Amino acid sequence: KEKKTSEQEKVQNKAPSQPAVFIPVDRSPEIQEARLKLPVLAEEQVIMEAVRENPGIVICGETGSGKTTQVPQFLYEAGYASDGQIIGITEPRRVAAVSMSHRVAKEMNLPPQVVSYQIRYEGNVTSDTKIKFMTDGVLLKEIQKDFLLRRYRVIIIDEAHERSVYTDILIGLLSRIVPLRNKKGMPMKLLIMSATLRVEDFTDNQRLFRTPPPVIKVDSRQFPVTIHFNKRTPMEDYTGEAFHKTCKIHRMLPPGGILVFLTGQAEVHNLCRRLRNAFPFRKNNTTDADTSEAMRKFKKAKQKKKSLPRIDLDNYSALPVDEGDEDREAGIGDEEDGGSDLDIGDDLADSEEKADPSIPLYVLPLYSLLAPEQQAKVFRPPPPGTRLCVVATNVAETSLTIPGIKYVVDCGRVKKRFYDRVTGVSSFKVTWTSQASANQRAGRAGRTEPGHCYRLYSSAVFGDFSLFSEAEITRRPVEDLVLQMKDLNIDKVVNFPFPTPPSTEALVAAEQLLVSLGALEEPPRTGSLSCPITPLGRAMASFPVTPRYAKMLALGKQQDCLPYVIAVVAAMTVREIFEDLDRPARSEEESTKLTQRRARMTQMRRLWAGQGAALQLGDLMVLLGAVGACEFAGCTPKFCEDNGLRYKAMVEIRKLRGQLTNAVNAVCPEVGVFVDPKMTPPTEHQVVCLRQIVLAGLGDHLARRVQAEDLLDPKWKNGYKTPLMDDPVFIHPNSALFKTLPEFVVYQEVMETTKMYMRGVSAVEAEWIPQLLPQYCHFSSPEESPLPWFCSSSGTIRCHRKSTFFRVGWQLPAVEM
Ligand code: ADP
Ligand code: MG
Repeated sequence: KEKKTSEQEKVQNKAPSQPAVFIPVDRSPEIQEARLKLPVLAEEQVIMEAVRENPGIVICGETGSGKTTQVPQFLYEAGYASDGQIIGITEPRRVAAVSMSHRVAKEMNLPPQVVSYQIRYEGNVTSDTKIKFMTDGVLLKEIQKDFLLRRYRVIIIDEAHERSVYTDILIGLLSRIVPLRNKKGMPMKLLIMSATLRVEDFTDNQRLFRTPPPVIKVDSRQFPVTIHFNKRTPMEDYTGEAFHKTCKIHRMLPPGGILVFLTGQAEVHNLCRRLRNAFPFRKNNTTDADTSEAMRKFKKAKQKKKSLPRIDLDNYSALPVDEGDEDREAGIGDEEDGGSDLDIGDDLADSEEKADPSIPLYVLPLYSLLAPEQQAKVFRPPPPGTRLCVVATNVAETSLTIPGIKYVVDCGRVKKRFYDRVTGVSSFKVTWTSQASANQRAGRAGRTEPGHCYRLYSSAVFGDFSLFSEAEITRRPVEDLVLQMKDLNIDKVVNFPFPTPPSTEALVAAEQLLVSLGALEEPPRTGSLSCPITPLGRAMASFPVTPRYAKMLALGKQQDCLPYVIAVVAAMTVREIFEDLDRPARSEEESTKLTQRRARMTQMRRLWAGQGAALQLGDLMVLLGAVGACEFAGCTPKFCEDNGLRYKAMVEIRKLRGQLTNAVNAVCPEVGVFVDPKMTPPTEHQVVCLRQIVLAGLGDHLARRVQAEDLLDPKWKNGYKTPLMDDPVFIHPNSALFKTLPEFVVYQEVMETTKMYMRGVSAVEAEWIPQLLPQYCHFSSPEESPLPWFCSSSGTIRCHRKSTFFRVGWQLPAVEM
């Protein structure tokens, strides 16, 4: 047997017919000169030789060494995109996919039809595309359509050190696809690129590669970076602390760009505004005299500088960095304006810092959802006589390299998604980052000359950071991934070659949920992890939303409900469509305004919730009403602001509705939905159907109002019982159903604030439960009254049965079955 394997391997290694052509690229002299400075260029020979001789290789090199921009060009020149096949590169972040495709197109002097990108909502790929940048989620979807990825000659998995869930799964899948392709005589290459040397999870992993792929290290030209810790650690107002530190650097230290790391978009904008106020920048306002004045000040400041401890940067590059979920493809409906920023009044904070505005500071924001033209600005040199200051989320940590940075200001935090195993509740929280991540951030200061990193926390706090954080896959529920894999006919998910496998417990929970949704066949025995996918499951897998919502979409075509189901699912997927108006006001005036807006929002919510039958759909009716009204008004920022809706969320919902409509049409073309953004309200009949569809999708989120006998304990007043939680959950005062308190409800999720509140609540009729959720019910033997009877149309014996809801034993009314 062993002999056979080694023979197979020989075949695998030999089979790839190497492209013999050399495709010339016409680069401009400036580009050519800039390229020659990149460390990765020195390794071109080694890399291409390794690519030729191995089915897969790993490339490690510091951020900024040229991996992302140059390696695709090496492959292109060597003819890997010449026989009608293309080179694909995956990125965990949308922003990197878009911006890198632009950069490479520019370097190669090729149009975007040839060097293209594809992300969740948009792309510019054509039949002429030769190099395609995409998010990892996009490639995963393509594998579902064509497991062998025939279009691609090479796949590059970039930023593998980020360990994003989709990246991990792609590496697992490609470890199988590449040998398969080579066996079939359709050679394919896999390149894994990482910013750190910690790649054992990929290389020394028998489950993945039988022969470990060679690792090529790109030597980085990194200059020493001096680390400065704060004496004390501000617990809350780190944005304010970042402001003071940046002002100090700008006033006292020699020229060189400043890069500030904060956690989210709102914080970034807040700090940008304050810095711009403190150091106003007017175009063409600098003269030579200004510049020499600036130089004089810098020189003076330099003389005062003390010598400080120095760290060895080679000491940290072996560790991977932390993940920052917020910029990820998977994180739709993410952090936006969550109100988590501590926004000190500008006037107060800025007057206390006596800024010297004589040297302009050129302040630029950088985060994933920023418009591409704005993003591109950080790569251009700042206007003469100014100092560049980029305020960024951790997108600047490894995905993008900004030239000319000498000072890094690091708040030490990161915004991350957290999940609760039991309730499935997820939330974004700001937490400490890891040591590896903090070191990566520091490293950004030493790209072009020795630099400085100012950490807004003490060395003791740094010592308490985790060394690095676990792969994302171990921190989240995996039902969506399991469904995707089953759709790829990977039935034994436990055996999948994950670089880091999720816990068996998480896999079992996912499999159980999918079975109960009807996406997988019933297991022969409980806990078995190899249930194959059902036709319903296949349909669900083609919708880019979580399986619970996918089930609703799959059922949605009944009674012409589809446009409504699509709108509700899109709105639920985008998570929070209402602005947070409960934030603390900064002034009397703002407080009055907030009160007015809150009143208006309450009024609108009531209007959208409707009355009678519509009201029973509860909060989901409010979503439907809001989406409909907003589209009717043309989805303008003004309409959103006036009615307490988040404009960004509404735009995202619109895009997602289009995308879901296409997906549904692809699955069942006979329905042929066409979504008119402006919906007419659903009829009474449709509302009932919608409620049932919602119940079918959210069956494991059923709650029952507490019964009289349980009311002895006052904590249960107005509370609801759920099968999985010991404590009561409640309907929020903002909910459309707060006054009604229906006996049975389903909810979208539970959020813990002052109490455990259900969000997205919708009322359910008791008799629907045994009919729509039989998998959760224990049925009695046939009732004697009325007696069983023969139904001639179905040819079966019909009867009435009572049932109880699993675990909790809720008695349900007898229904005909
Ligand atoms: P790596 O992938 O190894 O981190 P990159 O290939 O992203 O490195 O970057 C290589 C160099 O190209 C860096 O010096 C970076 O500053 C530069 N660069 C990347 N994108 C742009 C751009 N849009 N404009 C100008 N320079 C860029
Ligand atoms: Mg890169």
